[in-house]
Amino acid sequence: MPVLVVGSIGLDTVKTPIEEHADLLGGSASYAAVSASYFTGVNLVGIVGDDFPKTHVDYFQSRGIDLAGMQIAPGKTFRWSGEYHWDMNTRTTRSTDLNVFEHFTPTLPPAYVETPYVLLANIAPALQIHVLDQMRRPKLVIADTMNLWIETAKSDLLELLKRVDMLILNDSEARELTGETSLIKAGSSIRRLGPKYVAIKKGEHGCLLFGDNLFFSCGAYPLEDIHDPTGAGDTFAGGLAGYLASRNDSEITFEKLRKAVVYGSVLASYNVEAFSLERMRTLSLHEIEERYQMFKLMSHFEVLE
Ligand code: AMP
Repeated sequence: MPVLVVGSIGLDTVKTPIEEHADLLGGSASYAAVSASYFTGVNLVGIVGDDFPKTHVDYFQSRGIDLAGMQIAPGKTFRWSGEYHWDMNTRTTRSTDLNVFEHFTPTLPPAYVETPYVLLANIAPALQIHVLDQMRRPKLVIADTMNLWIETAKSDLLELLKRVDMLILNDSEARELTGETSLIKAGSSIRRLGPKYVAIKKGEHGCLLFGDNLFFSCGAYPLEDIHDPTGAGDTFAGGLAGYLASRNDSEITFEKLRKAVVYGSVLASYNVEAFSLERMRTLSLHEIEERYQMFKLMSHFEVLE
């Protein structure tokens, strides 16, 4: 079954303590869509300007991503620039130029409205709601968000949370949204706002999954070289959603979600090995399976005799 992905598609300039690269393919939907495409078909909804390089369009198409929902508007593509600090875990946004994004209304092509799996990647919650308003009874709705929306559009975000099955956010955002210092309390508190499931990402330290009296802690792959953490969260969300859509189980159990979280973590761990989506261009399903098995081995232990 396909997954509908809506979010930003942009050109990023990223600086790490070692390197800086400009005009890279980026945006929450770009990362999420490419990641999900390893498991299933993707219907991409977003907007680019008429300066968006054709090579990026060709790349999306080479991944089998349906672009009927990607609008090309006169003007400049969304641009974002960020700088990572020495820990490669924290970053400062240097600039955000909305450009064609400023007047974006995500209108779904008729063929998309019955897509059963929906990933609302990071964009303004009002736009995420607008997409849901057009959809006909999706089976699973997953949403991602960021601190900007918690600070500037909290009432829209709270409205959205009543309509999503799962929320994905990072640890500092979970604390900011709930006012809880404990991530365990924050997870439960977010569930009370609507989503049945919550995934709290902890950057290089893995992720926590919360369900109804159910909890799973997924470690992170011990990478020696992280070149660019940009899009790790979006890649995680795309892998998770794509895996669930590819299974299309009649019931989405916590067991399946645990596997989905590990697949999401595997995809994210590969993505940070190179700038932009460069590592994804060569990534194979075999490598994904190989690292999934490594995650399993690393987390397994026997009960002491
Ligand atoms: P992440 O590293 O998961 O936070 O995602 C980084 C991506 O989000 C970059 O490729 C940016 O282009 C995109 N991005 C940054 N700020 C925004 C924003 N305000 N709305 C939508 N996308 C954004």
